[in-house]
Amino acid sequence: MSEERASEEKGFVFRELTRKNILDQDLRPSKFEDFIGQERTSRNLKVFLKAARMRNEPLDHVLLSGMPGLGKTTLSHIIAHELEADLKITSGPALERSGDLVGILSNLKRGEILFIDEIHRLPRVVEEYLYAAMEDYSIDIVLDKGPAARSVRISIEHFTLIGATTREGLLTAPLRTRFGVLEKLELYPIPHLKQILSRSAGILGIEAGDETLELVASRSRGVPRVANRLLRRIRDLAQVNGKSRIDTDTAMEGMEMQGIDYEGLVAMDRKILDTVSKGRGEPIGLKTISVSVGEEEDTIEEVYEPFLIQKGFMIKTPRGRKITPEGMEHIGIRPGTGEAGSLFREPGDLFSDDININ
Ligand code: ADP
Repeated sequence: MSEERASEEKGFVFRELTRKNILDQDLRPSKFEDFIGQERTSRNLKVFLKAARMRNEPLDHVLLSGMPGLGKTTLSHIIAHELEADLKITSGPALERSGDLVGILSNLKRGEILFIDEIHRLPRVVEEYLYAAMEDYSIDIVLDKGPAARSVRISIEHFTLIGATTREGLLTAPLRTRFGVLEKLELYPIPHLKQILSRSAGILGIEAGDETLELVASRSRGVPRVANRLLRRIRDLAQVNGKSRIDTDTAMEGMEMQGIDYEGLVAMDRKILDTVSKGRGEPIGLKTISVSVGEEEDTIEEVYEPFLIQKGFMIKTPRGRKITPEGMEHIGIRPGTGEAGSLFREPGDLFSDDININ
């Protein structure tokens, strides 16, 4: 990730705290009681944590998957907190050389937790070191080069790996099968987002009515990070307008400023739908969409598509993406005619203002 730089300190590759992380930090729950929603995952994790504690053993390795901003990093902090264990954080792209990972693994203490974000982006040579580390708590190091090369096996402490991924499907089978706990985080329903917003408003000292929180929740595309960011931007607007409390009018204006429509779609979502609608019933490939909207294929698949599919505006077929009649209607095209229907905003406005929702 471009905003993250790896820096080597005492043999450990740390992820520098980016603006995103600093902002997330103060709103991040540190206990299960404050972690809203995702009941199945929370319930499962609590059981596994309790069992590990009862046996006085480190927790099995955990793989958390789901879209950006759904709470994977938050959960790893909560797990560490519950186990009273230290948490070391790094990410797949930051571990460029196998030496980086070997350095981290050999310094881990018993029961410590290693969190690898974007684990699907680990370079293959680095990933291969993880196999023995996860399974046998050992690492094979090759000493010397050429004919003198020999392999030495060193033991490491029993640790817990928590891997986070936005693309579970890209994980190799050998890595995936070494995780004992696999949990997938889902998009949040509106009532849960409203609870998250209410908690965040309390922490940030923002006064907001129930109706306003409901409105913001309904346009947060199921993602807590998006909800929290919207809340901050609306607070900015209220402050500039000299209001101490955010009301629905300010919230509406704030969302309009961000290009978020009444279904919670941003300009990029509408561009994607517009491109797919040009297929006139024929599926459109991801590559074509990517070139047409000017966004990376990965980002389209990880960030935009799940929400459009969940909304029922688009479907995925083996040959590509297709827009649904509801999707057509939303971007203002009457199904079957190709004519513009009742536009909710002017066409010029529809695709112009873009925000980064990642
Ligand atoms: P991810 O690692 O999946 O990208 P994060 O764990 O960084 O997501 O979550 C982003 C932000 O959203 C966190 O700072 C936190 O404030 C908020 N958040 C995520 N999930 C929850 C939740 N279940 N309850 C409350 N806040 C949450």
